[in-house]
Amino acid sequence: MIHVEDLSVSYGAVKALRNVTMSAPTGRITAVLGTNGAGKTTLLRAISGLVKPSSGTIHCNTTALVGMATDEIARFGVGHVPEGRGVIAEFTIEENLRLGVLASKIDANEGLERQFELFPVLGERRKQYASTLSGGERQMLAMARALIARPSFLLLDEPSLGLAPQVTAEMMRTISSLCTMEDLTVILVEQNAKSALRIAHEAVVLHLGSVIASGTAETVGDDSDLRRYYLGLVQ
Ligand code: ATP
Repeated sequence: MIHVEDLSVSYGAVKALRNVTMSAPTGRITAVLGTNGAGKTTLLRAISGLVKPSSGTIHCNTTALVGMATDEIARFGVGHVPEGRGVIAEFTIEENLRLGVLASKIDANEGLERQFELFPVLGERRKQYASTLSGGERQMLAMARALIARPSFLLLDEPSLGLAPQVTAEMMRTISSLCTMEDLTVILVEQNAKSALRIAHEAVVLHLGSVIASGTAETVGDDSDLRRYYLGLVQ
């Protein structure tokens, strides 16, 4: 379980998160939803140690993350797939994946084979440059690169960004089966609330840095005010 308590993060004068409290239960997908600038990316960056909170705590099970270095947090078992994916276009698929094991104790070849089992399309094209991949395939490569270090927790930032609706639907199904197969605790940040709510078990809605709603994905998705004003879902 990831538990965030009373977390505040500022960028200079900009308060990106204000006393945020939320939980992501073990083995489940928790969607973090909200409009532009709600603080979703900042929440993920705080969990993986990329930004320092001004106050509050973050726990993965019983381990306190605030104060740990980003590489320690990654080694502890938190995988982060950033918005925009962070794939290196000039590297091959295999080279991109090898980056994911650099800081871990995982055997690189075993790790690669495991990822090629999970994502056969990457295995078939392992020697090709990442620049040849479609948007959906790049997202898969970014996820595989995070998963190769065998994390227990996976933070996904806008995996649907720039993908066509059909590809998004396939991506969401992939995330859902990975959560089960790899026994992952997932935080899924999405502006595409409709797609995220299809696979999420829990949901948290942020607005201007504060939590304005949380509960099961069903409860959040059924709330007509949330749908209309914060989730961009037509009635
Ligand atoms: P989006 O979906 O547009 O990425 P978000 O919900 O992920 O939005 P954040 O990116 O976390 O929101 O941004 C929260 C607030 O913090 C916004 O007001 C944003 O402008 C501000 N912000 C984010 N990063 C920085 C930064 N590096 N420096 C200054 N302000 C920032």
